[in-house]
Amino acid sequence: MTNGEVRRSSRVLVAEFIAGIGEGNKFTKLDLNRAIPFYAQNDRRMRDLRECGWVIDNYKVNPSLAPDEYLVRRIGVRIDLGERPPKPARKTVGGAKRRRILERDGHVCAICGVPAGEPFPDAPGRRAVLTIGHLIPVARGGTDDENNLRAECQRCGDESRDNTLDPPTTDFVLTRARNIRSRKEKKRLFAWMVARRKDPDDTELVFLDWCRLPHSEQLRVMQEFGRQVLADDEG
Ligand SMILES: [Zn+2]
Repeated sequence: MTNGEVRRSSRVLVAEFIAGIGEGNKFTKLDLNRAIPFYAQNDRRMRDLRECGWVIDNYKVNPSLAPDEYLVRRIGVRIDLGERPPKPARKTVGGAKRRRILERDGHVCAICGVPAGEPFPDAPGRRAVLTIGHLIPVARGGTDDENNLRAECQRCGDESRDNTLDPPTTDFVLTRARNIRSRKEKKRLFAWMVARRKDPDDTELVFLDWCRLPHSEQLRVMQEFGRQVLADDEG
């Protein structure tokens, strides 16, 4: 048996096992390892299934689970029954829908808050170009429904595409938001939620303005300001 055959068949076995557990039910790592002989590959096989639209929570995305527990939230493409994963229909969203999403998201990246056409705060030489991205990637069953779309700059879009984790659960986000210690930070987060964007704070705004000065003026401000920063350190 070649490696390829082992990989294919273990993936099908893992799919069969998890489909047998059923949506809404839990299993443990031990259950899985007992059921499938190729257990060294089981984590990778579950990642493969997520690419096929299966939603399997672990303790990282679902704080109610123990570290060795998994929850079957959705059974995706039944590769164990010979179904084939769908090819992504279209990669880009255009036309009127694209304009509506950009308008709704205020022409800023919904992830980092950089406005369209503005330089990145940490990389002034690069300017943000917004595209429309999917919250749940198309490859994992995400649709072109407007609820699943958001404005993304080229950097966040790239990072999202590299991210193979499933989106967080509602409980996970709410728990983390509630656990923020400082009341001031909580209020800030709430304001971002209401505005659906991360407003740059005063320091970032000053920096963005500084980026728009001619180079010689940038140097002047940097030197003057630098003197004050150093003086503050000494005093
Ligand atoms: Zn961004």
